[in-house]
Amino acid sequence: MLKIDNLKVNIDNKEILKGLDLEINPGEVHVLMGQNGAGKSTLVKTLSDHYDCEVIDGKIVYKDKDLMELDVSERAKEGIFLSFQNPVEVPGVNNSYFLKTAVNEKRKHDGLEELDAMDFLKLTKEELGKFDIDRKLLQRDLNDGFSGGEKKRNELMQLLLLKPDLIMLDEIDSGLDVDAVKTVANVVNDLLKDKSKSLLMITHYDKLLSAIKPDFVHIMHNGKIVKTGDYNLALELDAKGYEAIGIKDEVN
Ligand code: ADP
Ligand code: MG
Ligand code: MG
Repeated sequence: MLKIDNLKVNIDNKEILKGLDLEINPGEVHVLMGQNGAGKSTLVKTLSDHYDCEVIDGKIVYKDKDLMELDVSERAKEGIFLSFQNPVEVPGVNNSYFLKTAVNEKRKHDGLEELDAMDFLKLTKEELGKFDIDRKLLQRDLNDGFSGGEKKRNELMQLLLLKPDLIMLDEIDSGLDVDAVKTVANVVNDLLKDKSKSLLMITHYDKLLSAIKPDFVHIMHNGKIVKTGDYNLALELDAKGYEAIGIKDEVN
């Protein structure tokens, strides 16, 4: 599904990713860990074509296409989804309108009929109802004045309605209470029942990891993946810390 070779990315003319390799196959769950500033967010932002990130070198192939040839909206339509560490507030844009537009853009791309307002309402009831996610957020402006938890729940709504193929979650569990983390895990595990979908998840916490069993755990350091293992690597890290597995503090 995704193959990254020797990826180098600058932000503000500073090299942040320094030759990163990563391969994700359909159905796989990958977790990125690493100290603050390692470049985790930069990687997922680059994959979603965030304007901060300037690709300097390397190759990214997604579903047999050169990802660099696809702009941000084409990537979304091809099923790439990023839940940002800090979702942006967009006052003046109604959340329901925004989501319906996004859903219909994707449906058009997939050769499906567009949903009208009634069909969309029905879809939100079906999908969000399964997970007891409050649909009231749909009536407000996108993330405008949302609490941290509401922003994360809103990201889950987008996931459930868009059903992306490559799901990327950047610290979706930070600042969430136990029940909310459970809801995140339930939503993601439900989506992952479809074995054509893959997950790339950034987290520091075992609570989410133990609920969404990863196939691979990667440790990022100084712009590269320096260690890859299975769930046990995350447990080891949790128990002993970075230095014990041979990783020294970031030099920024
Ligand atoms: P992580 O998610 O692993 O904590 P990031 O990818 O957010 O790390 O950041 C990697 C490095 O890039 C850090 O040194 C950070 O300061 C720098 N960086 C990130 N975003 C910007 C930006 N918009 N402008 C300048 N530097 C940035
Ligand atoms: Mg960070
Ligand atoms: Mg980050």
